[in-house]
Amino acid sequence: MLKSEYLQNVYTQVVTRDPDQREFHQAVLEVLESLDQVIGRFPQYQERGIVETFVEPERMICFRVPWVDDQGHVQVNRGYRIQFSSTIGPYKGGLRFHPTVNLSILKFLGFEQILKNSLTGLPMGGAKGGADFDPKGKSDGEVMRFCQSFMTELNRHIGQFVDVPAGDIGVGGREIGYLFGQYRRIRGSYDAGVLTGKGLAFGGSLVRTEATGYGLCYITQEMLRVLKNDSFEGKTVVISGSGNVAIFATEKATQLGAKVVALSDSNGYIHDPNGINLDVVKDIKLNRRGRIREYAAEVPGSTYHEGFRGIWTIPCDIALPCATQNEIDGDIAETIVKNGAMAVAEGANMPCRPEAIRVFQEAGLLFAPAKAANAGGVATSGLEMSQNSIRHAWTFEEVDEKLKGIMVNIFHNIYNASIECGVPGDLVVGANIAGFKKVADVMLAQGTI
Ligand code: NDP
Repeated sequence: MLKSEYLQNVYTQVVTRDPDQREFHQAVLEVLESLDQVIGRFPQYQERGIVETFVEPERMICFRVPWVDDQGHVQVNRGYRIQFSSTIGPYKGGLRFHPTVNLSILKFLGFEQILKNSLTGLPMGGAKGGADFDPKGKSDGEVMRFCQSFMTELNRHIGQFVDVPAGDIGVGGREIGYLFGQYRRIRGSYDAGVLTGKGLAFGGSLVRTEATGYGLCYITQEMLRVLKNDSFEGKTVVISGSGNVAIFATEKATQLGAKVVALSDSNGYIHDPNGINLDVVKDIKLNRRGRIREYAAEVPGSTYHEGFRGIWTIPCDIALPCATQNEIDGDIAETIVKNGAMAVAEGANMPCRPEAIRVFQEAGLLFAPAKAANAGGVATSGLEMSQNSIRHAWTFEEVDEKLKGIMVNIFHNIYNASIECGVPGDLVVGANIAGFKKVADVMLAQGTI
């Protein structure tokens, strides 16, 4: 129950309007709980109906995606784009292709994206989209035909000044290439800035592929430095997932002197006490699109275990969940604490359930929430848009330096907000308030309502 009657009414309306959207309720409630601590200071938000406007998407698009499989059969998936907020810039957020995709998940992701994009300091609104299509086991031709059909509808809703999608789970460089190709053919115009995460030869940015994982490590490093006078050096790290975010978090954590000992996928996890050999992982996941279990067959001394949640029984100093939402519940969090971890930073979106976050915070662990910790991906997408606009490509070092600056800046922004809110070091509250306040004040200034 929220202390503020106003916020409680907003939350009740969110739940009543869409009773089945549990992930969305969870994301909204976390932000309202943070706001609850400070709302008394901002009567104008209630007077102008800012919070109830903020939690309702500006526009939700839902469409069918018919495509032909390799056997010549017609398949039909459902596509979505949630254009949540364009208050501080064009809608911006990834596309997810996964069988679990539904309105609740995309609304939660789009909602989080508003706050995340606000924290980057770049002018980007919030959106998310995708389809309940499973790219696993599909041929290259099937993925291409699906992407073409998806873009045949989506193209009319996006544009470099309107809405700029990017990748997410199941949407990497290959899918962005097919999506961009179809957009270009249909529109007859080379609007490179309409999608980010593009190939380097057609307007992509160096470091975009690495950005979320690298950014996660940059902000974690700054958090360790400021709050514990410590660093990644000599630490044991467990990272869940073995996709884009997990792979490049492993790379950067290792470069910063840590030993990453475990990775997973949705079937199970590998444990390599000697430290993960990332060349092997990249070969399996990026070149062969294989399964993480293949690692144990190739690297002596490592083991594979069925069931992805077991990864959190492995003791570590730093836990970086980088797979998917709600993978860490209260019990798993207790295990991580008991095993002596000092810090948790979310690479995936909302990987920790609310009770898990409470366990970490009560045990005194450092905790960096996703909307700040994984903002490096979208921040670098913002840098890709800048490069597309000025028709120029920055070097790897230039983009990496800007990314590092953005992540360090986000840490200080949310840490300072936590101090201003009277809960120093509570970065959940800090991120929610810093991200929300910027957008809310622009809503007031623009007279959005
Ligand atoms: P990928 O598709 O590259 O990898 C996802 C990884 O998570 C895979 O190892 C996958 O295993 C695993 N996974 C997916 N769903 C589940 C599930 N239900 N249970 C257990 N494991 C699962 O995605 P990304 O690395 O891009 O994204 C990972 C997370 O990071 C997501 O939450 C995403 O929203 C978030 N994120 C990504 C950004 C980016 O730039 N890519 C930016 C910001 C956030 P399997 O192969 O078996 O499915």
